[in-house]
Amino acid sequence: MTYPTQPIASHYINGRYVEDTAGDLIQVIYPATGQIIAQVHAATPAVIEQAIASGRAAQAAWAALSGTQRGRVLRRAADLMRAANHDLSVLETYDTGKPYQETSVVDATSGADALEYFGGLAASLTGEHIPLGEDWVYTRREPLGLCVGIGAWNYPTQIACWKGAPALACGNAMIFKPSEVTPLCALKVAEILTQAGLPDGLFNVVQGMGAVGQALVSDTRVAKVSLTGSVPTGRKVYAAAAQGLKHVTLELGGKSPLIIFDDADLENAVSGAILGNFYSSGQVCSNGTRVFVHKAIKDRFLARLTARLQGAVLGDPQDPATSFGPMVSARQLEIAEGYIAQGKAEGARLVCGGARLDRAGFFLPPTVFADVRDDMVIAREEIFGPVMAVLDFEDEAEVLARANDTEFGLAAGVFTRDLARAHRIAAGFEAGTCYINTYNDAPVEAPFGGVKASGLGRENSKAAIEHYSQVKSVYVRMGDLEAPF
Ligand code: NDP
Repeated sequence: MTYPTQPIASHYINGRYVEDTAGDLIQVIYPATGQIIAQVHAATPAVIEQAIASGRAAQAAWAALSGTQRGRVLRRAADLMRAANHDLSVLETYDTGKPYQETSVVDATSGADALEYFGGLAASLTGEHIPLGEDWVYTRREPLGLCVGIGAWNYPTQIACWKGAPALACGNAMIFKPSEVTPLCALKVAEILTQAGLPDGLFNVVQGMGAVGQALVSDTRVAKVSLTGSVPTGRKVYAAAAQGLKHVTLELGGKSPLIIFDDADLENAVSGAILGNFYSSGQVCSNGTRVFVHKAIKDRFLARLTARLQGAVLGDPQDPATSFGPMVSARQLEIAEGYIAQGKAEGARLVCGGARLDRAGFFLPPTVFADVRDDMVIAREEIFGPVMAVLDFEDEAEVLARANDTEFGLAAGVFTRDLARAHRIAAGFEAGTCYINTYNDAPVEAPFGGVKASGLGRENSKAAIEHYSQVKSVYVRMGDLEAPF
């Protein structure tokens, strides 16, 4: 591989690598072997201060450039990222354990899409002119200032770009804190941005656990926080940001429903269920983990699903032939195992999988439970692993009510050939992103985000611009000004 897994230093600040070994040691473990492949140090208060000070110092000049100039840098970064796709994908696979077969087509590529999309949009960001008779108001779309991005471990490159690209397009600076589990990839994003001509200080990466994230969120000089993470962390970040009345975007967890009607194309529905449960070993926030299957086709669905799961190639994730990799960490594997034990104890029927593989690394095969009831824990709580719960239904209104009976609302899907029903169901779903006869697509052109406990705000698309900029109204009086005294 071209990139060594051990980075030059832990942090990337003001256009260069920075180290402070006084910070807590974070060991990076390759999920496929359990071996340590790199180590970094958590940011100390001095490192955090450097990141904040350099971001603040660089932001005003960046914001003063034209949108075309900012966009050019982002589009150049997109090209560099695509050119480095192989090496970045290898690194993403070391960082997360996701198979190269996935990382080579999803991670740096979708990061590049975000850089290209927001790079293209930057020049079109404008205010408006509001005539008021002789007087008028004009609005200016202005950046927020210094933004903080905090990432989860499942898509470290993509998350850094989904947050960094719109922030930079709008004229902000960003400090990104990756998950301590996957600290490597965001550093490469920062390097590429520098190579593309991004002025120093505008995209800083600092490592650390929750405490570093908390320190960043609580700093009065930070204007906005965008978190991708779990609901409990989201609540903490939201509360801390509220103290400073900061702007917040929260991309949190889910327990999304996938409804398969008896008129659905069965092979497509099975594909949707596989994509919505087993891609990235099930570690995807928008996964459709409650699969409601119409009673009339349940047996056929389960038969085709289990037959197709035999085709999953588990193994060395760096081998392009491997289609199913390990889970990200021993801890995440244990969490999933705990849910599997609970599913069995509650009387769900284990159809396949269910036990970790007897080999090095954190491998849990695709696991399917049938005869799951709505009140079972495995149907209510996010597992974040390759565990699918299949539930039966017969009636459209009933299944929609059951699908919505959750605190979450990230995504939802429906498979049916009846398009009137499909749109009726999509309209009825309480979810931020809905799918008809597909699942888990996330193009940068479409807004992505949750309702209810799954989050606030939207990433991607023009909608993200609203969350990284603010509108200033300027009132202009053309004539004399009267006053009562
Ligand atoms: P966590 O909530 O554990 O962590 C998310 C990030 O927040 C990490 O970088 C973490 O640091 C940091 N953090 C933890 N505590 C605090 C705090 N008090 N203040 C500031 N930052 C903090 O999530 P996971 O990393 O385990 O990721 C899995 C979760 O992410 C799942 O629930 C999943 O659904 C969700 N997710 C949502 C997505 C979406 O777009 N909606 C996409 C991907 C995942 P550290 O872990 O280093 O301690």
